[in-house]
Amino acid sequence: HNHIDHATPEKVQAAIAAQAFHPAIPDYERLDAYRAGGGYDRLLNLRENGDWEAVQDTVLAAGLRGLGGAGFPSGKKWGFVRAEAGPRYLAVNGDEGEPGTFKDRYYLERQPHIFLEGMLIAAWAVEAETCFIYMRDEYPAVLEILRREIAALEAAGIVAPGHIDLRRGAGAYICGEESAMIESIEGKRGLPRHRPPFVAQVGVFDRPTLVHNVETLHWVAKVCREGPECLNATEKNGRTGLRSFSVSGRVAKPGVYLLPAGSTITDIIESAGGMSEGHVFKAYQPGGPSSGLLPASLNDVPLDFDTLQPHGSFIGSAAVVVLSDQDQARDAALNMLRFFEDESCGQCTPCRAGCEKAVKLMQADSWDQPLLEELCQVMGDASICGLGQAAPNPIRLVMKHFGEEI
Ligand code: SF4
Repeated sequence: HNHIDHATPEKVQAAIAAQAFHPAIPDYERLDAYRAGGGYDRLLNLRENGDWEAVQDTVLAAGLRGLGGAGFPSGKKWGFVRAEAGPRYLAVNGDEGEPGTFKDRYYLERQPHIFLEGMLIAAWAVEAETCFIYMRDEYPAVLEILRREIAALEAAGIVAPGHIDLRRGAGAYICGEESAMIESIEGKRGLPRHRPPFVAQVGVFDRPTLVHNVETLHWVAKVCREGPECLNATEKNGRTGLRSFSVSGRVAKPGVYLLPAGSTITDIIESAGGMSEGHVFKAYQPGGPSSGLLPASLNDVPLDFDTLQPHGSFIGSAAVVVLSDQDQARDAALNMLRFFEDESCGQCTPCRAGCEKAVKLMQADSWDQPLLEELCQVMGDASICGLGQAAPNPIRLVMKHFGEEI
């Protein structure tokens, strides 16, 4: 006759709440520690007597580009948003849904205030009324850290209550596409918008909106505090700057590595402790599944914005996944297309039906390459957003480099 503790709905709710809202919080730099090192001095100075164009010049001189994947020069964006009549908004893309990308999480779980100061400097520069932070819900520790530290900033009088509006994403990859993210912030289904108009003109609730990735804002603060040299003093293989590579797959020590922007896959594998034991380097995904797969023979290409276009790829958010002789490139590509099939928002036919058709064709022992190429062409030409336009990359690169497998 054991005592049975019946699970009433209230008890179940309490248990869920207890688990859901108490994630393991890593030891991060709190507001007091950040301020003790001079944190927020730059922001408060700028608000007092700053010249936004001088700050824009600093950001441009640093060569800072959008680190969510698009690589657009950050300072230029400020100019576009400022050119539109106010009121304006700032929206932070913290969705980080690109498979293999975890750099934003890495920084936010350690130094959230560098990011927050960068965001507030950018908001000051474009006179944004509100900063929306769109943070993926799969990062409960980050959400909790941000909740705490935004409250601390409000208590310290550094931001007015409500100036920072923290929003939770709900797990849709497409909501990392900036216009779909804006739809989601507005409370609608995350469907990418046609452009023009661009979000700098018509963004959140139809207002001019500055959209930045988390890591970009981390660097805005660093550049403003330490000078453009903290980015532009690093040169390698003819490329300038630094890049946070999220490295995973068959390497000994997966993780985030801050390396020169001109680093090659050889440098990256070396930084990650070499290949896992018993594995021979075969292929790599340079920047998320949209960037497809490159063979180990392309091991001397600097992995930066603009350098991979001639190879039918791009660096995107620098999500490097390393494959070995124990992996099949065709399996990896099929996995990528299954992901796109799941995550396609479905509003345009070339992507919705194209991803589904591609998955079927790629499951055949022997690929119908002319038909796949025709499909790739239509998807690339006629899809509304980057998901459908880039989905053919893994298919084309496997056909080009791993023909023996298909
Ligand atoms: Fe949606 Fe795909 Fe079209 Fe993008 S390309 S709008 S994800 S259906």
